[in-house]
Amino acid sequence: MKNKTPKLKKKSTGKYGNGFYADEDIKKGTIIHMFTGKRMDVKELVQKVNSNKENIDDPFQIGKRTYIDLDEVSRTFNHSCDPNCGIRKVGEMFSLRDIKKGEEITYDYSLTIAPTEWKMKCLCKSKNCRKILGDINSVSKKQLDSYKKFGALQNYMKKLLKEIESGNYKVPKYEIEALNSLKI
Ligand SMILES: [Zn+2]
Repeated sequence: MKNKTPKLKKKSTGKYGNGFYADEDIKKGTIIHMFTGKRMDVKELVQKVNSNKENIDDPFQIGKRTYIDLDEVSRTFNHSCDPNCGIRKVGEMFSLRDIKKGEEITYDYSLTIAPTEWKMKCLCKSKNCRKILGDINSVSKKQLDSYKKFGALQNYMKKLLKEIESGNYKVPKYEIEALNSLKI
C-alpha cells in the first residue's frame, strides 16, 4: 500500500474548468501524481499548436528540449501562485504541506517553464497571485528559494537554474526559431 497515491476527485472549479480535489486528507511529502503523456520536442509542440491540436498553455516541460503532451488526467491539474504541490524529478507531483480533504490540488506552472516568451493570465486569486504567469524567471526569489528548500524542482530545472544564476543561460536557438513560427 506504500506507493498508493491519494484519492482525488475531479470537479468543476467554477472559474477555470475542471480541477482535481483531495478526496481524503493528504500528508505533506506524499506523491500525488506522475505527469504522463506522449513525449515531444519543441518542433512537434509548435506544429501541434499551429494545427490547433494543442493549446500553447498545455504542454508540460520535462527537459531542456522535451515536453509531454499531457494526457487528460494530467492536464486537469490547475495552477496556483500559492500551490499545495510541487514537481520534482521528472514530472513527479508531491504535496508541499498537509492538504485537507476538499482542497483543490494545484502546482505552480511557472516552475516547469524554461525562459521563454510564454505568458498566461492567472485567476488563482491567492494572496500572492502574480496575475500574469511567465517562465521560471517570473517567480520571485523568495518563492523560488522556498521551492528549492522543498526540493520542488524537476531535475532539468535544477540544472537550468544553475545556468541562469551564473549568467550563462541563453534561450536556445532552436527554441527561438520554433517560437517565431508560432501562429498565435
Ligand atoms: Zn495566481
